[in-house]
Amino acid sequence: MTDSPRVQKAIEMAKKAHAGQLRKTGEPYIVHPLAVQKILEEWGMDEDTIIAGILHDTIEDTDLTLDEIKQEFGEPVAFLVDGVTKLSTARNGMRDIDTYLPATRDNFLRLMIALGDDIRVLIIKLADRLHNLRTLSALPPDKQKKIAKESLEVFAPLADRLNMGRLRVEMADLAFKYVDPRRFEELKNIIDKYNKSAEKSLVKIEEEVAEALKKEKIKFEISGRVKSVYSLHKKLAKHNQNMGEIYDLTALRIIVEDITDCYLSLGVIHSLYTPMNGRIKDYIAMPKQNGYQSLHTTVITKDKKVVEFQIRTREMHEYAERGLAASFYYNEQKLTENYKKGKIEHLPTNLLWITELQMTAARLREGKKVDLKKLKINLFADKIFVYTPKGDIIDLPKGALPLDFAYKLHSEIGDHVVGVKINGKMSNLNKRLEQGDIVEILTSKNQTPKQSWLDRIITPHARTKLLHALRPSTRENVPPKKKRKPRQQ
Ligand code: MN
Repeated sequence: MTDSPRVQKAIEMAKKAHAGQLRKTGEPYIVHPLAVQKILEEWGMDEDTIIAGILHDTIEDTDLTLDEIKQEFGEPVAFLVDGVTKLSTARNGMRDIDTYLPATRDNFLRLMIALGDDIRVLIIKLADRLHNLRTLSALPPDKQKKIAKESLEVFAPLADRLNMGRLRVEMADLAFKYVDPRRFEELKNIIDKYNKSAEKSLVKIEEEVAEALKKEKIKFEISGRVKSVYSLHKKLAKHNQNMGEIYDLTALRIIVEDITDCYLSLGVIHSLYTPMNGRIKDYIAMPKQNGYQSLHTTVITKDKKVVEFQIRTREMHEYAERGLAASFYYNEQKLTENYKKGKIEHLPTNLLWITELQMTAARLREGKKVDLKKLKINLFADKIFVYTPKGDIIDLPKGALPLDFAYKLHSEIGDHVVGVKINGKMSNLNKRLEQGDIVEILTSKNQTPKQSWLDRIITPHARTKLLHALRPSTRENVPPKKKRKPRQQ
């Protein structure tokens, strides 16, 4: 673990500050900041970030002041602790019911500013949230659901945007278990069963591939990767719950030394097995938006098993698992210098949105005008965040309509929609929702779902729910609809 005197000092300071406080789990409070410290160390974060992680709850919850932290650990640490504190008050403020309209807008700005100042603030917040999720069972059920939901809707997507794959998977699965326990168990069983039945043939495939790669003198590591429950849930939603369209339940990962070997290995696999049409993806030549790189291919083996292969270099692998945190690790020195200058220059081009966010934050602080719509689109490329009147955040794909929102809240709400208020004004069901809208759904218990609503939704989730609600009446009075394209995006 850690032996730096500064870190030791921070631990002492936090212990003293939190003395006597207990967590909901019944443990002394200090367990939590120390767990956050450990997570940040595992991510390979720099010392200032680790210290700020240890102290992250002191300003809000204890008598310790920012000045004391600054005196002891310097400006950068105080800055980070302040950022994390602001971030959580910004989020709390969103739930301010009485003044929701101005509060929401204002706090969204504050959130952006806190994030934009220094992305390490967000990384500390993610570590904080991860530990809270790991210990979520100690909270009352309604709080569990709320935190879990927010983690799925806001924090896991953020981890994804930062390409922190391992974190995204852990966070999403931890949270999903609370949001929808039955579904979680159901899908987990499917995955476990599938893996068990595939185990034997996988070993054989591994051996075959290994032998063929050796013949080509390619140095490699091969291992299985298990699909996460939440990503299976999302994929099923996208494919109308059709398991037959899920091709990556079983995947093998091959890590090689360089890019040439990636493509060579792909050739080797395709000479062994039959590649499936349209299932070869070259994320090396065309990385995903978050910088993820890998070759993917789905093949059919000799005994008709469907297996996905993911091929990448060690560096790409590190980056896929740890994302932004990995670049901190490799660039710590340079990074700290650049932060002093107020910019990050070494970031992979795919993460330049962070630089942009920082520049926007700087402009906001100077009181200059900023086109927030642009900024938010950069942050969550294909998503919008809208609010319930109570300030809960709901994420939807771009272009979503009020009925998508209603069904996302609950099918009982969706089925009984009579109207919608957007930002306090009556609107209509054809109006596309926009970033930051506050959406209030008006319902009546006499309302019933309408066939015509099918044209007023875009999310697979809402479609599934609506079709379900329509089923009995569809059979009787409406001629069967032509097959429609199941999804967009
Ligand atoms: Mn905390």
